[in-house]
Amino acid sequence: MISVEEALERILSYVDRLAPETKPLENALGQVLAEDAVAAFDVPPLDNTAMDGYAVHAADTAGASEAYPVRLRVSGELAAGYLYEGAVAEGEAVRIMTGAPMPAGADAVVPFEETDEVSRAPGEGAGTFQKGAETVGVLKAAAPRANIRDAGEDVAQGDVVMPAGTTLNAAQIGVLASLGQADATVYRRPVVAVLSTGDELLELGKPIEPGKIFDSNAYSVASMVREAGGVPLMLGIASDTVDALTAKLHEGAEADLLITSAGVSRGDYDVVKDVLVREGKIDFWTVRMRPGKPLAFGALKLGTGGEKRTVPHVGLPGNPVSSMITFELFGRAAIFKMLGKAGWQRRQVLAIAEERIKNTDGRRVYARAILSERDGRYYAALTGPQGSGILTSMAMANALAVVPEDVPAIEPGDAVTCLVLSP
Ligand code: AMP
Ligand code: MG
Repeated sequence: MISVEEALERILSYVDRLAPETKPLENALGQVLAEDAVAAFDVPPLDNTAMDGYAVHAADTAGASEAYPVRLRVSGELAAGYLYEGAVAEGEAVRIMTGAPMPAGADAVVPFEETDEVSRAPGEGAGTFQKGAETVGVLKAAAPRANIRDAGEDVAQGDVVMPAGTTLNAAQIGVLASLGQADATVYRRPVVAVLSTGDELLELGKPIEPGKIFDSNAYSVASMVREAGGVPLMLGIASDTVDALTAKLHEGAEADLLITSAGVSRGDYDVVKDVLVREGKIDFWTVRMRPGKPLAFGALKLGTGGEKRTVPHVGLPGNPVSSMITFELFGRAAIFKMLGKAGWQRRQVLAIAEERIKNTDGRRVYARAILSERDGRYYAALTGPQGSGILTSMAMANALAVVPEDVPAIEPGDAVTCLVLSP
């Protein structure tokens, strides 16, 4: 039986970062840039006004006050999106709107609020200032460059705004858009085929039958695939025969990773291992952990017809909690690696155990826990009975409390390492 670390290392040795793809920027959120993003031009491209107001010569406004306004001739108007023709001469002002490029000659902007435009238009809201007046009174001196956004103050031409390897977030997508980049070149998302096995399984939508249970693993695992950044390919349910399972697995021949659940223990109908041996090669089939000991891993040669592909295959245990926890530890890491993402490790905190967490047989225990913070300390309580078939114990958990292999029990009050599942 191999350790969790060794199992992870072996699985990761079978997967690689996928090839880059170029796709519309709006679909690249959460994917990893395959190339440096370089600015082809300054952002903003031109000096422009940060306020609605008047573009002026700062020197003209020296000494201005409410009592002694400086009166300037209004020589024109400029909205955002247009260039001013001509230049602002001394003694002149151009009425200008936020974002409009600075007219030549002007070196400061006086906001409307610091002119007499407001007082001359009582009761009229913003935007209905006394447009068209021939002069404007400046009530406060403006410093040179006041209220001007400099060309390139956000991004300068030639800057590497994001290096290759950046996992794109919303703001970074926005920055790429500001640079006019309609597409992003990012590592492709892995397609992860998800297949449930077991004669007892019913598809959702079917009426419940005696002796049968609904297939929940496909849904929890596919959701984890999506959370990790993969694209689930739902293959449905295979019955417990080598032929049925083999046929279904071939439907996943185009996938980057195959995930099955169940059929990996020692029961009479546990055929996943047999298929791995017959259709490919099996690397390991037990890991020293609880839940999740029967975890099979190998590579399958898949595809009907001439060309066969070798696809890594993780055979998760069937019990619903076991399949989620093993996917959490191994499947998620494999998806991150294919995406070119680092940091698949969950945040770890040391918490005070609020109850006993036992370890009966020298495996590493991942107990479903509710982590809470009080007075600057973390506390971990169990989510109730820890049977690996009790899926609600997982649904309530926001952390996994880890009991090391060589620790027979964590007692109340002991420190316990917790993997934080939720943000
Ligand atoms: P097995 O590994 O096939 O022995 O399955 C172990 C346990 O997990 C059994 O109780 C199965 O009924 C249950 N199980 C297997 N597959 C699923 C599934 N897709 N959804 C819910 N429970 C399952
Ligand atoms: Mg079974």
